[in-house]
Amino acid sequence: MSITAIARPEIQALSAYDAAEQVDDTIRLNANESPAISSIGDFRRPLNRYPEVRPKRLQAVLADRFGCSPEQLLVTRGSSEAIDLIIRSFCRAGVDTILTPSPSFSMYRHYAEVQGADVIEVATLAERDFEIDVDAILAACKKTTKVVFVCTPNNPTGTPLPRAELLRLLDDRSDQSVVVVDEAYIEFSDQPSAIELLNQYPNLMVLRTLSKALGFAGARCGTVAGSSDVIALLSAVQAPYALATPVVECVEDALAEDQMAIAAAAVAEVLIERSRLISAIADNSSISKIWPSEANFFLIRAVDALGIMEHCKKHNVLLRHFGGDLSDCIRITVGSRSDNDALLHALDSFVGDK
Ligand code: PMP
Repeated sequence: MSITAIARPEIQALSAYDAAEQVDDTIRLNANESPAISSIGDFRRPLNRYPEVRPKRLQAVLADRFGCSPEQLLVTRGSSEAIDLIIRSFCRAGVDTILTPSPSFSMYRHYAEVQGADVIEVATLAERDFEIDVDAILAACKKTTKVVFVCTPNNPTGTPLPRAELLRLLDDRSDQSVVVVDEAYIEFSDQPSAIELLNQYPNLMVLRTLSKALGFAGARCGTVAGSSDVIALLSAVQAPYALATPVVECVEDALAEDQMAIAAAAVAEVLIERSRLISAIADNSSISKIWPSEANFFLIRAVDALGIMEHCKKHNVLLRHFGGDLSDCIRITVGSRSDNDALLHALDSFVGDK
């Protein structure tokens, strides 16, 4: 049985959009486009023409970079769009459920709510640096749980999910749930990508993004990797021409070796700065705990979290505060050396405020 058998029946039956054919060097009178070439921008494909339905070259380059075949990869508008496509494809409104550890990235819940799918939240182990609790996840899964999200390293805690735990989850849920491994921050960690497991686990999907380590959040480009039949299913749900020509060409150029060397150097710098920041604030009396992190951010517990947020804002430094169980915590993104100096300066003067 293919894992697509647990997708919504109407999506299983959905055919991909039958787009106007695109053949190089032909006269295109089949897509109601304008013959006038815009004077805006200098693109390899003129803007009066539709982009490719799916950007083939970009798909091949990203598949090669991430370690799968092009048929196992869909290019999406950020990995956010992939989360939405997966939930819409697998979860029937009012019937099916997704499962997410808590705390984790809030968009899993958000898109489930938009789709009308119920959300099961499973607490992470706060006393063990917010480890994802696979036993509790397996116990909480219902018959209707079609999608399980695990983010590694997790946002906002920075905690990795060990490979053995992921395998346990994949094995146990094998033909009942798709397990979506969100690797938005994997480049900041020593962990290998779960993409190497795709051929063994048809229920595995892996999200990657160009928004973090690769430095292209503004381009809105991400990917979902999975078995080729699941990718075909998601592709039928995604809007045709989803990736705009300026984005496709910008990202194709961005993936050139010199750009990738810039991104790799930036990641190395973030790791150095992460250690520097953590050591520099270790003795700050306003901070009661700093969690270890494998991402480009880390979480702290503060004596007066909202006070620190407000004080840093007055010093022009924005941090992230979450409610609920994390209401005494702050997530700090590691910035450039000068950004981090500004943060340290603000934190030093916070004690003086009191
Ligand atoms: N997953 C995680 C864990 C994230 O933190 C984010 C962005 N904050 C995303 C996915 C979405 O990123 P994007 O849509 O830019 O690829």
